[in-house]
Amino acid sequence: MPAMNRRRFLSAAGLGSLAAAACQAPPAPDQAAANVVVTGLEIFRVRVNQRGNWVIPRIQTSAGVSGIGDASHAGEGDPQIAKLQDFFELIQGRGIHDIEWLRGQVQPEIAKFGRAASCAFSGIEQALFDIQGKIAGVPSYQLFGGKLRETIRNYANINRSTDPRDAAGFAAMAGRAVEFGFDAVKLAPFDGMPLGGSASEIAAHTRQGVDCVRAVREAMGDREVLIDAHGNFDLERGLGLLKQMEPFGLFWLEEVSESLEHLAAIRKAAAMPTAGGESLYGLKENAEYVTAGAADILMPDVKYCGGMLELKKIAALAEGFGLPVAPHGPASPVGNVAAAHVCAGLPNFQILEFSFGETDWRAELIDPPEEVLGGYMRVGGRPGLGIELNEKTARRYAVD
Ligand code: MG
Repeated sequence: MPAMNRRRFLSAAGLGSLAAAACQAPPAPDQAAANVVVTGLEIFRVRVNQRGNWVIPRIQTSAGVSGIGDASHAGEGDPQIAKLQDFFELIQGRGIHDIEWLRGQVQPEIAKFGRAASCAFSGIEQALFDIQGKIAGVPSYQLFGGKLRETIRNYANINRSTDPRDAAGFAAMAGRAVEFGFDAVKLAPFDGMPLGGSASEIAAHTRQGVDCVRAVREAMGDREVLIDAHGNFDLERGLGLLKQMEPFGLFWLEEVSESLEHLAAIRKAAAMPTAGGESLYGLKENAEYVTAGAADILMPDVKYCGGMLELKKIAALAEGFGLPVAPHGPASPVGNVAAAHVCAGLPNFQILEFSFGETDWRAELIDPPEEVLGGYMRVGGRPGLGIELNEKTARRYAVD
């Protein structure tokens, strides 16, 4: 109908004010949110055990809203702390949404310094998505396409907590994980492989590792067992390992070798699914890994891979190749929550890693305390990551 008539019609129908509103410019974006800039950085360094510290950056903003991330496990002496300072100086005064910009800025640093830099970037990135969610009033998973599931299945990595590292020790820790509610555990029973030693020394160490797998298999009953070979095998010994692992019905066999070519050959020969990719940074490295056919299951780590957005991109890449994603993550509770917010919306999510038994105060590092019920984490409805750092716990166990 002509404009005049239409206006009259709407008015007659009592819709005049609605029509007037519809003709106006779209509502302005929330200027307060659009103008929020990064103003401060605090770094919490928490002592866990001989396997390393947890490093939690907390970013402050001009809105008085803060966010946290996980930048743990960069190596001896936590070299990511210097990188956190450097990257904070880049983002200081810039908007909380400038994540792709920061990604481009830190690229040369990541190429030069590796994990120290990728951990630092990933930690800041998670904190920015925590802040974005808080300011928008939505859980962070809503910034990544919403959620497909309420709960996230976790498996218990018992490798970092088992002592002694023999068959009985691993079986006992697997039993504790089952008591805690997990129905899947992972161990790396070939750690300490004497790679410079004789063939018989290597064979003896491999046998001891297989004994550990057998003991855990028996302890787990019909629950799942995941084995991480930590790259300790060349192609020939790796193919031999496949045969030795076959009777155990593994959920997966992870990173038998460090060579992409060998991993691809092992994947082809394997009766069980293979998994890997935890150390890779960014979409490009993951694309090379996937196109090499290195694994059946891709394992990006939110602390190493470039953060939550990069994890989403990598998962999308895997989805395009028909691969499931099982994010790696012996992490602090903060890193697990950040990963879980992305996992909540991944069509190809399989299972998330949980570092079991490292400390008895783990759950108390965040507020509300971490809850993993029956091996599942729930992503809640609170804005952002939905957690705050429990500073009391962080200070009690702070690295001196
Ligand atoms: Mg691994």
